[in-house]
Amino acid sequence: MDNHSTTPVDPRVLTVMLPYFSERFGNAASASHAFGWEAQRAVDEARAQIARLLHADSEEITFTSGATESNNLALKGVVQRYREKGRHIITVATEHKSVLDVAKRLEEEGVEVTYLPVASDGLISPDDVAAAMTDKTILISVMLANNEIGVIQPIAEIGEIARRRGVLLHCDGAQGVGKIPVDVREMGIDLLSFSAHKMYGPKGIGALYVRKQSPRLRLVPLIEGGGHERGMRSGTLNVPAVVGFGTACAICEKEMPMEGIRLTEMRTRLKDQIFLSLEEVSLNGHPTRRLPGNLNMSFAYVEGESVLMGLPDIALSTGSACTSAAPEPSYVLRALGVPNSLAHASLRFGLGRFNTHEEVDYVAGRVTQVVRRLREASPLYETAKGAVQRA
Ligand code: PMP
Repeated sequence: MDNHSTTPVDPRVLTVMLPYFSERFGNAASASHAFGWEAQRAVDEARAQIARLLHADSEEITFTSGATESNNLALKGVVQRYREKGRHIITVATEHKSVLDVAKRLEEEGVEVTYLPVASDGLISPDDVAAAMTDKTILISVMLANNEIGVIQPIAEIGEIARRRGVLLHCDGAQGVGKIPVDVREMGIDLLSFSAHKMYGPKGIGALYVRKQSPRLRLVPLIEGGGHERGMRSGTLNVPAVVGFGTACAICEKEMPMEGIRLTEMRTRLKDQIFLSLEEVSLNGHPTRRLPGNLNMSFAYVEGESVLMGLPDIALSTGSACTSAAPEPSYVLRALGVPNSLAHASLRFGLGRFNTHEEVDYVAGRVTQVVRRLREASPLYETAKGAVQRA
């Protein structure tokens, strides 16, 4: 139940990939023989499947190694390409590290970065975006859906503001693409990062959507040598992964409406069961404007890490990005104003395509059991309960 971290490859995806490891092993850039043509055809078809999911054109899809690389290419590529236009970018405090660390790097190189705050539900205000813009602003980077709290940002409204001011909008879609509908034109997105392994495709392949018209975007590449991907990202394509990515997108496009309903229903069941059996549990992030499979909860008086240790048979994660030496509370939860004690007491549930109702019931029961046991052993909890009884 940790599908935000990664998802298993859908068996239907694996089946279409397999021949491209063996009998159809051609290099898609080999233009002089049938092995290459066959690989190129497969890449073309996958690119079209991926573009269709976003309502984009095939030529607007550039393959990368994943969303981390796509985010790097988008931010660094725009800043370098448009440095004469301005040196200011806007992003958000709750973005993924593959955006925030790049922004920090750009700051070291003299770029001015505004980090917008979020409200206590995790949402940013489009008015804040508008207010942060200056005549030096060249790029806004806002994620589609958050990887910890699943909150879905108002991208279309931000796209509208960006468009009016002639500023580019980049969106990190790693968690949202394939889970919720995305239409790059309607939402005013100029650059969109996403990754196959978050949507039941293989690891190590992702893409960057780059708008080709009004405006036609050009980026300075991160990787040069050979001019693959229209010069945007050189290197021989991983054809089996590309083919798998295409099929993963086609399946998501077809099954998204039903899958969304099913995951929302299972997520609600999990939440209700936990809320019914435990007191002092809080939901982090907006209650409905979130990914269908996401839940993030704080269990007062227990450490999230201790709950996980009591659940070795369940794949969950804490909201916190911990290093073993110095566990830091999640910067995402802290940005929502969740106090340190509750940020440390949080768990992230990420339900996915292959989870079942039985698993939901099992996880709800086991989490309840472990939280109760830890609370019984917690002097803090005993004191707090005693205080309530005395009052
Ligand atoms: N952005 C977000 C929101 C993510 O959740 C992730 C994956 N954790 C990434 C970017 C990075 O994706 P990848 O693993 O494909 O590099």
